[in-house]
Amino acid sequence: MTTTLAVANQKGGVAKTTSVASIGAALAEQGQRVLLVDLDPQACLTFSLGIDPEDLEVSVHHVLTKGLAPGDVILETDDGVDLLPATIELARAEADLLTRTGREHVIKAALELLEDDDLAYDWVLLDCPPSLGVLTVAALTAADGVLIPLQCETLSHRGVGQLLDTVHDVRRFTNRRLAVWGVLPTLYDGRTNHARTVLETISDTYELDVIEPPIPKTIKFAEAPAAGRSILATSRSSKGAKAYREVAGNLMTRARKKG
Ligand code: ADP
Ligand code: MG
Repeated sequence: MTTTLAVANQKGGVAKTTSVASIGAALAEQGQRVLLVDLDPQACLTFSLGIDPEDLEVSVHHVLTKGLAPGDVILETDDGVDLLPATIELARAEADLLTRTGREHVIKAALELLEDDDLAYDWVLLDCPPSLGVLTVAALTAADGVLIPLQCETLSHRGVGQLLDTVHDVRRFTNRRLAVWGVLPTLYDGRTNHARTVLETISDTYELDVIEPPIPKTIKFAEAPAAGRSILATSRSSKGAKAYREVAGNLMTRARKKG
């Protein structure tokens, strides 16, 4: 059984990409077979896993708009996860898809092809772009659950209501089984009461589960992407790496309960 999670928040800089790379690497450490899908034309996930998008002949864009099988595009990475990489061409895919029938289902259909190629994954993590456009809606349509990374210190929760409206629409029209797994507090400075208060307010206001533990804010994260590895490899025993390992463990527990 594959568990597919969309990591979404239309706000940029809330650690969507960092969370996908780190949770993916942590799941792989646990022996899980993991596919990460880069759905952001900025290709930050692809780059942060040590792959230069400029060197790629084919990418997720060819899968979503040209009918290429994902198995022909997927790459192995040093972090032990497989990657369906993106390039800037994905920006054009977003525009192309706008006029296509069934556009909400393109990612779901592509992931179904994995089974034909005997590529069985325990986890597929979808790194959404910072918008509620076609690609995010298609990711939510393909997902069993959505994780919402949230930076607690700022007013970044203002967009949460809008994101939940989109989730609600997706449930009504394209994916009835979509579940909100919860908010993942990121860039968390637990020393301030403010961060804690904001977190409690958000989870109360929107009746959302909080995925534990919060990911602490640490400089180590700035260094990892340049090394082409996730923080789990570059700073194995840092607080950030430990927090992501714990989050991954909690996600595995939840998947087991459901499955
Ligand atoms: P998004 O994908 O939501 O735009 P990113 O994952 O690219 O966000 O993260 C935005 C920036 O924040 C990046 O420079 C990243 O290195 C940094 N960052 C992410 N998580 C942390 C953290 N826990 N502590 C410090 N910096 C972080
Ligand atoms: Mg990102």
